[in-house]
Amino acid sequence: MSDNRNAMEHHGCIVCGRGYEMLVVYSPSGKFLDCTVMSPSGGHCVMGHDRPLVACDRHSQQEVDAALAAHYPGQETPEDREERA
Ligand SMILES: [Zn+2]
Repeated sequence: MSDNRNAMEHHGCIVCGRGYEMLVVYSPSGKFLDCTVMSPSGGHCVMGHDRPLVACDRHSQQEVDAALAAHYPGQETPEDREERA
């Protein structure tokens, strides 16, 4: 498939809310596939979820996991992705 859609989106760090401009890739059906932080530097995508998430590089994995659990309780399992797509 080569009909994926790219979109520029603004998302905040899931831990501290710092804003990032991100290039987000969706499938033709609108399913989130991938994302890349465009600017500013110092952030990275948090993959494994069905939505574009970003976190600053300076946050530990524990901080990111805690923020995810707080924002999306019970939605971190892969089994949930298809149902909510
Ligand atoms: Zn942050």
